[in-house]
Amino acid sequence: MDETVTAQGSKVEQMAQIRDEIIKQEICADLAKQAKNLVMGDGSLDAEVVFVGEAPGKNEDEQGLPFVGAAGKFLNEMLEAAGLKRKDVYITNIVKYRPPNNRDPALEEKRDFWPFLLRQLEVVQPKIIATLGRHSMEYFLPDARISAVHGQPKRIHVTADGKDYEWVIMPLFHPAAALYNGAMRETLMDDFAKLPSVIGQVKARDNVLKIMAGQ
Ligand code: URA
Repeated sequence: MDETVTAQGSKVEQMAQIRDEIIKQEICADLAKQAKNLVMGDGSLDAEVVFVGEAPGKNEDEQGLPFVGAAGKFLNEMLEAAGLKRKDVYITNIVKYRPPNNRDPALEEKRDFWPFLLRQLEVVQPKIIATLGRHSMEYFLPDARISAVHGQPKRIHVTADGKDYEWVIMPLFHPAAALYNGAMRETLMDDFAKLPSVIGQVKARDNVLKIMAGQ
């Protein structure tokens, strides 16, 4: 696999470093104690799209990989229908340990993992961040309601740790919410189908900016 190598080491090494720091800093120690695995992410570290879910469930905790249960199967189907390969995208969660009994991740758990998610995004440098459900969306689009903004890409600026980030966020419903709801399933599939053209638009804009900057 071709890996981008930067002054901080390869992307694989940078991701491993982030993982080590989560463990060393004992992030969400209570969750960690009950979890079998720290679920960092899966897919290409050179992905154009990063999907961000909520937190691992039972299957994810057991396998150490995100979205491998029923919601993951549906996610795979939607990726395929949109012409995207799972191995070419990167999939992670805002909270990286399974909350007991699959409860919603708590505010402080999301807050504690947020800086590590930012660092993962900095490593991958995707064209689009697709949030799956409101738990990851609310960090990128704090004032948005998912029912109003789903499927509508939005360019945002985030300042964290003295760094400025500019990203395009595509808010999507969570696949688990749509699993047994026919209408929402259709909406989510329609929103997924927009991803390739949004990626194309973001790339075209980036190319124009590069040309204007003489790069
Ligand atoms: N739901 C999530 O939000 N993440 C997973 O990894 C699995 C189910």
